[in-house]
Amino acid sequence: MDERLRTINRKYKNKIEVLQRKNFEIQKEKERDHKKIIALNNRVNALEIENQRLLELSQNDSLTGIPNRRRLDAYLNIEWLRGRREVSNLSLLIIDIDYFKEYNDHYGHVEGDRCIIQVGNTLKKTLKRPGDLLARYGGDEFIAVLPNTDSVGALLIAEEMRQGIENLGIMHQHSIVSDFVSVTIGVSTTSPNEQMSSEILVHRADAALYEAKKKGRNQIKVFI
Ligand code: GH3
Ligand code: MG
Repeated sequence: MDERLRTINRKYKNKIEVLQRKNFEIQKEKERDHKKIIALNNRVNALEIENQRLLELSQNDSLTGIPNRRRLDAYLNIEWLRGRREVSNLSLLIIDIDYFKEYNDHYGHVEGDRCIIQVGNTLKKTLKRPGDLLARYGGDEFIAVLPNTDSVGALLIAEEMRQGIENLGIMHQHSIVSDFVSVTIGVSTTSPNEQMSSEILVHRADAALYEAKKKGRNQIKVFI
Protein backbone atom coordinates (compact mmCIF):
# COMPACT_ATOMS: atom_id res chain seq x y z
CA MET A 1 0.00 0.00 0.00
CA ASP A 2 1.41 3.31 -0.90
CA GLU A 3 1.49 6.26 1.47
CA ARG A 4 -1.55 7.96 -0.24
CA LEU A 5 -3.75 4.97 0.32
CA ARG A 6 -2.65 4.61 3.94
CA THR A 7 -3.52 8.28 4.56
CA ILE A 8 -6.99 7.83 3.03
CA ASN A 9 -7.52 4.69 5.11
CA ARG A 10 -6.51 6.46 8.30
CA LYS A 11 -8.80 9.38 7.48
CA TYR A 12 -11.76 7.04 6.97
CA LYS A 13 -10.92 5.08 10.09
CA ASN A 14 -10.84 8.32 12.06
CA LYS A 15 -14.14 9.43 10.56
CA ILE A 16 -15.75 6.09 11.37
CA GLU A 17 -14.47 6.33 14.95
CA VAL A 18 -15.82 9.85 15.28
CA LEU A 19 -19.20 8.72 13.89
CA GLN A 20 -19.28 5.71 16.21
CA ARG A 21 -18.50 7.94 19.18
CA LYS A 22 -21.25 10.36 18.13
CA ASN A 23 -23.66 7.49 17.69
CA PHE A 24 -22.78 6.19 21.14
CA GLU A 25 -23.37 9.65 22.65
CA ILE A 26 -26.70 9.97 20.86
CA GLN A 27 -27.74 6.55 22.23
CA LYS A 28 -26.71 7.62 25.75
CA GLU A 29 -28.63 10.89 25.35
CA LYS A 30 -31.70 8.94 24.19
CA GLU A 31 -31.50 6.66 27.22
CA ARG A 32 -31.20 9.67 29.53
CA ASP A 33 -34.24 11.31 27.84
CA HIS A 34 -36.20 8.07 28.12
CA LYS A 35 -35.44 7.88 31.85
CA LYS A 36 -36.45 11.54 32.23
CA ILE A 37 -39.77 10.86 30.45
CA ILE A 38 -40.46 7.86 32.72
CA ALA A 39 -39.64 9.96 35.81
CA LEU A 40 -41.90 12.77 34.56
CA ASN A 41 -44.74 10.34 33.86
CA ASN A 42 -44.41 8.91 37.36
CA ARG A 43 -44.49 12.42 38.80
CA VAL A 44 -47.62 13.30 36.76
CA ASN A 45 -49.33 10.08 37.96
CA ALA A 46 -48.42 10.82 41.59
CA LEU A 47 -49.76 14.39 41.24
CA GLU A 48 -53.00 13.11 39.71
CA ILE A 49 -53.49 10.70 42.64
CA GLU A 50 -52.71 13.51 45.10
CA ASN A 51 -55.15 15.84 43.29
CA GLN A 52 -57.88 13.20 43.46
CA ARG A 53 -57.19 12.75 47.19
CA LEU A 54 -57.39 16.52 47.81
CA LEU A 55 -60.58 16.78 45.75
CA GLU A 56 -62.18 14.01 47.83
CA LEU A 57 -61.00 15.68 51.04
CA SER A 58 -62.51 19.00 49.97
CA GLN A 59 -65.83 17.40 49.04
CA ASN A 60 -66.35 14.94 51.86
CA ASP A 61 -67.09 15.47 55.52
CA SER A 62 -64.06 14.47 57.59
CA LEU A 63 -66.06 12.73 60.36
CA THR A 64 -68.46 10.59 58.32
CA GLY A 65 -66.74 10.44 54.93
CA ILE A 66 -70.00 11.31 53.20
CA PRO A 67 -70.32 14.38 50.94
CA ASN A 68 -70.10 17.72 52.72
CA ARG A 69 -72.04 20.92 52.22
CA ARG A 70 -69.81 22.12 49.39
CA ARG A 71 -70.46 18.96 47.40
CA LEU A 72 -74.16 19.18 48.29
CA ASP A 73 -74.43 22.74 46.95
CA ALA A 74 -72.75 21.81 43.67
CA TYR A 75 -74.83 18.65 43.27
CA LEU A 76 -78.10 20.36 44.11
CA ASN A 77 -77.34 23.03 41.53
CA ILE A 78 -76.71 20.40 38.83
CA GLU A 79 -79.88 18.47 39.69
CA TRP A 80 -81.91 21.69 39.84
CA LEU A 81 -80.88 22.57 36.28
CA ARG A 82 -81.50 19.01 35.09
CA GLY A 83 -84.98 19.06 36.69
CA ARG A 84 -85.74 22.27 34.80
CA ARG A 85 -84.54 20.88 31.47
CA GLU A 86 -86.32 17.56 31.86
CA VAL A 87 -89.40 18.94 33.68
CA SER A 88 -89.08 16.31 36.40
CA ASN A 89 -89.64 16.31 40.15
CA LEU A 90 -86.87 16.99 42.60
CA SER A 91 -87.29 16.09 46.28
CA LEU A 92 -85.18 17.13 49.22
CA LEU A 93 -85.10 15.74 52.76
CA ILE A 94 -83.58 17.42 55.81
CA ILE A 95 -82.90 14.87 58.52
CA ASP A 96 -82.08 16.04 62.04
CA ILE A 97 -81.21 13.91 65.08
CA ASP A 98 -83.62 14.45 67.99
CA TYR A 99 -82.27 15.85 71.26
CA PHE A 100 -78.72 15.39 70.08
CA LYS A 101 -77.39 18.06 72.41
CA GLU A 102 -78.67 15.96 75.31
CA TYR A 103 -77.06 12.85 73.76
CA ASN A 104 -73.69 14.63 73.62
CA ASP A 105 -74.06 16.03 77.12
CA HIS A 106 -74.95 12.64 78.58
CA TYR A 107 -72.81 10.18 76.61
CA GLY A 108 -69.89 12.47 75.67
CA HIS A 109 -68.56 13.90 72.43
CA VAL A 110 -66.80 10.70 71.31
CA GLU A 111 -70.02 8.69 71.57
CA GLY A 112 -71.77 11.61 69.88
CA ASP A 113 -69.36 11.38 66.95
CA ARG A 114 -69.90 7.62 66.76
CA CYS A 115 -73.65 8.18 66.73
CA ILE A 116 -73.41 10.70 63.86
CA ILE A 117 -71.33 8.21 61.83
CA GLN A 118 -73.85 5.40 62.42
CA VAL A 119 -76.79 7.63 61.54
CA GLY A 120 -75.03 8.82 58.36
CA ASN A 121 -74.26 5.24 57.26
CA THR A 122 -77.83 4.10 57.88
CA LEU A 123 -79.35 7.05 56.00
CA LYS A 124 -76.99 6.44 53.10
CA LYS A 125 -77.97 2.76 52.88
CA THR A 126 -81.61 3.78 52.41
CA LEU A 127 -80.76 5.52 49.13
CA LYS A 128 -80.59 3.06 46.26
CA ARG A 129 -80.71 5.10 43.06
CA PRO A 130 -77.35 6.21 41.64
CA GLY A 131 -78.65 9.79 41.34
CA ASP A 132 -79.57 10.07 45.04
CA LEU A 133 -77.14 11.92 47.26
CA LEU A 134 -76.80 12.02 51.03
CA ALA A 135 -74.72 14.84 52.50
CA ARG A 136 -73.89 16.07 55.96
CA TYR A 137 -75.48 19.50 56.13
CA GLY A 138 -73.71 20.35 59.38
CA GLY A 139 -73.81 19.31 63.06
CA ASP A 140 -76.55 16.71 63.51
CA GLU A 141 -78.27 17.51 60.20
CA PHE A 142 -78.18 15.61 56.92
CA ILE A 143 -79.71 16.36 53.53
CA ALA A 144 -80.85 13.84 50.93
CA VAL A 145 -81.28 14.98 47.32
CA LEU A 146 -83.67 12.75 45.37
CA PRO A 147 -83.86 13.56 41.66
CA ASN A 148 -86.84 12.28 39.65
CA THR A 149 -88.78 11.62 42.85
CA ASP A 150 -92.28 12.88 43.65
CA SER A 151 -93.53 13.64 47.16
CA VAL A 152 -95.03 10.15 47.61
CA GLY A 153 -91.68 8.52 46.81
CA ALA A 154 -89.83 11.03 49.01
CA LEU A 155 -92.16 10.29 51.91
CA LEU A 156 -91.53 6.55 51.52
CA ILE A 157 -87.77 7.10 51.65
CA ALA A 158 -88.14 9.42 54.65
CA GLU A 159 -90.19 6.82 56.54
CA GLU A 160 -87.64 4.13 55.71
CA MET A 161 -84.92 6.42 57.10
CA ARG A 162 -86.84 7.28 60.26
CA GLN A 163 -87.55 3.59 60.90
CA GLY A 164 -83.98 2.58 60.05
CA ILE A 165 -82.54 4.97 62.65
CA GLU A 166 -84.92 3.84 65.37
CA ASN A 167 -84.13 0.21 64.52
CA LEU A 168 -80.45 0.87 65.19
CA GLY A 169 -81.46 0.79 68.84
CA ILE A 170 -78.88 3.34 70.02
CA MET A 171 -79.89 4.04 73.64
CA HIS A 172 -80.82 7.66 74.33
CA GLN A 173 -82.08 7.93 77.88
CA HIS A 174 -82.32 11.69 77.66
CA SER A 175 -84.64 11.80 74.68
CA ILE A 176 -88.21 12.67 75.57
CA VAL A 177 -89.62 11.10 72.43
CA SER A 178 -88.03 7.63 72.37
CA ASP A 179 -85.71 5.28 74.31
CA PHE A 180 -83.46 5.26 71.28
CA VAL A 181 -81.83 7.80 68.99
CA SER A 182 -84.44 9.04 66.53
CA VAL A 183 -84.66 11.55 63.70
CA THR A 184 -87.15 14.11 62.49
CA ILE A 185 -87.42 14.75 58.75
CA GLY A 186 -88.68 17.65 56.66
CA VAL A 187 -89.58 16.92 53.04
CA SER A 188 -90.11 19.24 50.09
CA THR A 189 -90.74 18.45 46.44
CA THR A 190 -90.98 20.62 43.36
CA SER A 191 -90.62 20.57 39.63
CA PRO A 192 -87.75 23.06 39.26
CA ASN A 193 -88.78 26.23 37.41
CA GLU A 194 -87.73 29.85 36.96
CA GLN A 195 -89.97 31.13 39.76
CA MET A 196 -88.31 28.82 42.32
CA SER A 197 -84.73 28.15 43.39
CA SER A 198 -82.90 25.33 45.10
CA GLU A 199 -82.49 27.66 48.12
CA ILE A 200 -86.28 27.89 48.39
CA LEU A 201 -86.52 24.09 48.16
CA VAL A 202 -84.07 23.77 51.09
CA HIS A 203 -85.91 26.51 52.99
CA ARG A 204 -89.24 24.67 52.53
CA ALA A 205 -87.80 21.36 53.76
CA ASP A 206 -86.40 23.26 56.75
CA ALA A 207 -89.81 24.79 57.45
CA ALA A 208 -91.39 21.30 57.31
CA LEU A 209 -88.66 20.01 59.66
CA TYR A 210 -89.41 22.83 62.09
CA GLU A 211 -93.12 21.93 62.04
CA ALA A 212 -92.35 18.24 62.65
CA LYS A 213 -90.06 19.17 65.58
CA LYS A 214 -92.85 21.29 67.03
CA LYS A 215 -95.31 18.42 66.69
CA GLY A 216 -93.14 16.19 68.88
CA ARG A 217 -90.13 14.87 66.84
CA ASN A 218 -89.39 11.33 65.57
CA GLN A 219 -91.71 12.01 62.65
CA ILE A 220 -91.91 13.34 59.12
CA LYS A 221 -93.58 16.43 57.73
CA VAL A 222 -94.02 17.25 54.06
CA PHE A 223 -94.04 20.92 53.06
CA ILE A 224 -97.38 21.80 51.48
P1 GH3 B 1 -83.56 18.96 68.31
O1 GH3 B 1 -84.21 17.80 68.96
O2 GH3 B 1 -84.48 20.14 68.24
O3 GH3 B 1 -82.96 18.66 67.01
O4 GH3 B 1 -82.40 19.44 69.30
P2 GH3 B 1 -80.89 19.03 69.26
O5 GH3 B 1 -80.38 18.99 70.65
O6 GH3 B 1 -80.66 17.81 68.44
O7 GH3 B 1 -80.32 20.24 68.42
P3 GH3 B 1 -79.28 21.34 68.75
O8 GH3 B 1 -79.10 22.09 67.46
O9 GH3 B 1 -79.68 22.10 69.96
O10 GH3 B 1 -77.95 20.58 69.07
C1 GH3 B 1 -77.22 19.88 68.15
C2 GH3 B 1 -75.99 19.43 68.84
O11 GH3 B 1 -75.18 18.64 67.97
C3 GH3 B 1 -75.10 20.53 69.31
C4 GH3 B 1 -73.71 19.99 69.21
O12 GH3 B 1 -73.23 19.74 70.50
C5 GH3 B 1 -73.87 18.66 68.50
N1 GH3 B 1 -72.92 18.48 67.42
C6 GH3 B 1 -72.84 19.18 66.27
N2 GH3 B 1 -71.82 18.68 65.50
C7 GH3 B 1 -71.29 17.65 66.19
C8 GH3 B 1 -70.22 16.73 65.93
O13 GH3 B 1 -69.54 16.76 64.88
N3 GH3 B 1 -69.95 15.79 66.85
C9 GH3 B 1 -70.67 15.72 68.00
N4 GH3 B 1 -70.35 14.77 68.87
N5 GH3 B 1 -71.65 16.56 68.29
C10 GH3 B 1 -71.97 17.51 67.38
MG1 MG C 1 -81.12 17.87 66.39
